[in-house]
Amino acid sequence: MSTASSASVTANGNGIVNGTGASNGSSPSPPPGVAAAVQVLSTLTDAVQEVGGVPAPSVETIQAKLVSKDPQIIKHMKKHMAEGKPFYSFEYFPPKTREGVSNLYARLDRMDMLEPLFMDLTWGAGGSNSDLALEIAGTAQGMCAAQVMLHLTCTNMTQSDIKATLERAKKAGIRNILALRGDPPKGMENWVATEDGFTTAAELVTYIRKEYGDYFGIGVSGYPEGHIQAESLEQDIAYLKAKVDCGADFIITQLFYDCELFLTWLKRIREVGIKCPVIPGIMPIQNYNGFVRMTSFCKTHVPQEIQQSLEAIKDDDDAVKQYGIDLGIAMCRRLLAAGVPGLHFYTLNLERSVAQILEGLGLITPKMNGRLPWKQSLVTNRSKKEDVRPIFWANRPRSYLERTFHWDEFPNGRWGDSSSPAYGDLSDYHLCTFRAGSLDERRKLWGSNPTVPLDLFRVFSDYVTGKIPRLPWCDNSLQAETVPLSDFLSRLNLAGYLTINSQPAVNGVASSDPAVGWGGPGGYVYQKAYIEFFTSPHNLEKIMKQLKNDPEYGHGRITITALSVKGEQQTNVKLGDKRVNAVTWGVFPNREIVQPTVVDQDSFVVWKDEAFALWLSQWLPLYEEGSPSHDLIHQVHDTYYLVNMVDNDYVRGERLMNNFFERLLA
Ligand SMILES: Cc1cc2nc3c(=O)[nH]c(=O)nc-3n(C[C@H](O)[C@H](O)[C@H](O)COP(=O)(O)OP(=O)(O)OC[C@H]3O[C@@H](n4cnc5c(N)ncnc54)[C@H](O)[C@@H]3O)c2cc1C
Repeated sequence: MSTASSASVTANGNGIVNGTGASNGSSPSPPPGVAAAVQVLSTLTDAVQEVGGVPAPSVETIQAKLVSKDPQIIKHMKKHMAEGKPFYSFEYFPPKTREGVSNLYARLDRMDMLEPLFMDLTWGAGGSNSDLALEIAGTAQGMCAAQVMLHLTCTNMTQSDIKATLERAKKAGIRNILALRGDPPKGMENWVATEDGFTTAAELVTYIRKEYGDYFGIGVSGYPEGHIQAESLEQDIAYLKAKVDCGADFIITQLFYDCELFLTWLKRIREVGIKCPVIPGIMPIQNYNGFVRMTSFCKTHVPQEIQQSLEAIKDDDDAVKQYGIDLGIAMCRRLLAAGVPGLHFYTLNLERSVAQILEGLGLITPKMNGRLPWKQSLVTNRSKKEDVRPIFWANRPRSYLERTFHWDEFPNGRWGDSSSPAYGDLSDYHLCTFRAGSLDERRKLWGSNPTVPLDLFRVFSDYVTGKIPRLPWCDNSLQAETVPLSDFLSRLNLAGYLTINSQPAVNGVASSDPAVGWGGPGGYVYQKAYIEFFTSPHNLEKIMKQLKNDPEYGHGRITITALSVKGEQQTNVKLGDKRVNAVTWGVFPNREIVQPTVVDQDSFVVWKDEAFALWLSQWLPLYEEGSPSHDLIHQVHDTYYLVNMVDNDYVRGERLMNNFFERLLA
């Protein structure tokens, strides 16, 4: 199954749920089964919201440039199987609102750190959310380390629709498809093929293989309790065999809660000659009512022991969730012990239970450390060679990746010539943050009527204290390492130093540290305190004066560069000095020192354009032209400086930085 709320919940195959279809009025209403499933899933997930908001940025052109290293999931599965290493994958559904999509991107980012073998995106009933599914799948394919699989159904699709969708998937860099028949079109009891469409998943598999050969890896669905419309389990298994024989690489199953039943079915399908990998679908129980409705809707067999255990705790949501985690661990243990090669999690777009089950199984460490402090891309060349990035895009990594997609060369781990970085032109795409939200949503976050600078200062302060989740320059909420600085940053913001990026000093902390660690086990990490902010010419003058007059900050201890939108520069970095300053590095056993993040003065000039443009593209449109709010944003954009400061004394750490600003604010 896939879950649906847009995931594809499938009731033993029946009832898929459409993700976004019912919400925006443009899609026909779902059939009763689908509607029920939507409702069921709504109770399970906190991520189902109304559609609305800004149009999605087009990423197809970007993704077209992607060629991932081992594009087909089946190859990764086989590698894991040969090594006897269990794998796991995560299924998501396209949320109903732009805000939901933003949240999902943040979640994908985080869950990607758990190193799933692949992630998959469901297809709304009848293709109702096809654009969004393609957008999210394409974006995730480019930005996540995991491979991405797109579900595709035959419902409401002519052959040419299927062809067009596969072409779009291809353009978006997607190389894996879960080929499904789908549930009945909305409002219909029985499944009826569209004229000039396909009748079964087997036909879809055949078509994809005929038209695209091995270009796409193909998965299909399996039903341990039999598909709801199947005449018999034997017949269903025979159809499953036919589906695989048409060219499917692997099978993902519908959810179940009875492992013995699954294992009996697995034995039977092996007996009829199905040899491909079979990955059991696991849906962690998130709450009691949702579970009961889901399992009765899907006609899933629930062992008595589970029913009784849940009955006893059904009014205690936390206990049910914990039970779901414990049960998930026990089920997965049983399945892995019986030899399944991997686990497929119906996440319902939630992360906690899945992460805790994996942790309980010992498949992930409490915090998986990425190889580098920023997430590597799958793009060929980069993935192997890139190991240095400027710090400026830390909070807008997608924009950085898109700007630099055409960089084929990463000699010494970085772009060829750092003194003339060939960043892509500033385009609408760079300015369109994935987390922008509608005008109304943004007004709620950033103010409906700011009239004086202090109104804006408060918004920045609210961000660093966690009261609002994002700013135009920061796609996600404050990073864990910065949270301890939030009081200090809040005071700075209220004084008109509008921070958009910062990191604390770190002096030889274990690379396994949950807040600042990276790079794998056994190492030590270091970083210089860094802060970046917009501020007025008056404030900048005060900073420059203090830097000059106080010997404490001399000898390059604190370096600063400030640029106005017009490119007017103030800096204490001497022209002859190296223009690249390492601000994060790590020392690991048997490796050279790794230095993944730098402050690069030339890149700062490029970033400055993007950073200033975000005032105009993200914030200014919230207010009517000629209004005081509109004028205020313009004035800040036109007159403020963007400033970066590095505290080079990482041993004394941010005390120096704090101390500097304490004096300034006094
Ligand atoms: C892992 C998983 C993910 C899913 N993801 C989605 C999703 O993203 N979006 C969505 O809308 N739905 C999804 N579904 C639900 C799925 O679309 C429905 O269960 C649908 O009713 C069956 O699709 P299928 O591909 O399994 O169908 P098929 O394998 O084509 O089978 C459909 C029915 O036809 C029967 N059958 C098959 N071949 C023949 C034949 N030759 N002659 C006669 N009968 C035949 C089967 O026994 C079965 O009853 C998912 C299901 C699973 C298990």
